[in-house]
Amino acid sequence: MKIARTPKELKEILKVNTGSVGFVPTMGALHHGHLSLIEESVRKNDITVVSIFVNPTQFLEGEDLDKYPSKFEADEKICSLAGVDVLFYPQVKDMYEDDEIKISAPNIRGCILEGYVRPGHFDGVLTVVMKLLNMVSPTKAYFGKKDAQQLALIMQMVKNFCMDVEIVALETIRESDGLAMSSRNVYLNKNERVEALKISKSLKVATKLVMQKKLTTELIKKEMFQTLEPLDIEYVAIVSRAFIPLNEVEIGNTIILVAAKLGSTRLIDNLWL
Ligand code: AMP
Repeated sequence: MKIARTPKELKEILKVNTGSVGFVPTMGALHHGHLSLIEESVRKNDITVVSIFVNPTQFLEGEDLDKYPSKFEADEKICSLAGVDVLFYPQVKDMYEDDEIKISAPNIRGCILEGYVRPGHFDGVLTVVMKLLNMVSPTKAYFGKKDAQQLALIMQMVKNFCMDVEIVALETIRESDGLAMSSRNVYLNKNERVEALKISKSLKVATKLVMQKKLTTELIKKEMFQTLEPLDIEYVAIVSRAFIPLNEVEIGNTIILVAAKLGSTRLIDNLWL
């Protein structure tokens, strides 16, 4: 596995490649969720590039940028064992100039839910993903459904800017008790870790109601709130794949999203129906 520490080094390494390129952008502190994306990319492409970059522009003032978990050595080992060909590990100074053209998230998908609670977050996400996709020029890029709104916005960006890449979305990987894997789970203390299970439980409650043909979103949300309480709930939303709020669950076109805080740790999870 080669390690590229600058966009220039990355370009040098990639210029000899003539086959298909799979790309998995991450912020590091890799877990099985990331690994599922990496493994799928290794299976389906001639070479796989993984990036590890904690992108400052997607963090708001007061968020966890400075304490975001960093485990480069462990991540390097995981990537190498998984068959990654190139690990891209750039520094902020090589990714950004002082005064740049801004990409801003669109109104509908960009300013609700995560975009509402974290204004500007998606502008930063789209900017860095655009940069990374341009640097790597992958055939396919892999993203998790865990970040459903991010995924929808990246798909929209690729479409709007006519970018020549296929976006592949993969399922959320969970701990055995149901908690969605996240690099931020390490922040949880013992009690918060137990309480965090309410998030995946609330999604199971929603699944059960839908299986009983109880499709009214007001009712589903009410029952989800009952499961989630007394957590500090930021939102429970039931939207279409286009992120339009729904009155009734439409099978094949619905995402149920939850965001809640456990102490100072924000967790998100969702269910695709
Ligand atoms: P991050 O390092 O958090 O920026 O995530 C990098 C990629 O991994 C994103 O596409 C995420 O959606 C994806 N990802 C994060 N957690 C999971 C998970 N539990 N299951 C599947 N994919 C995930």
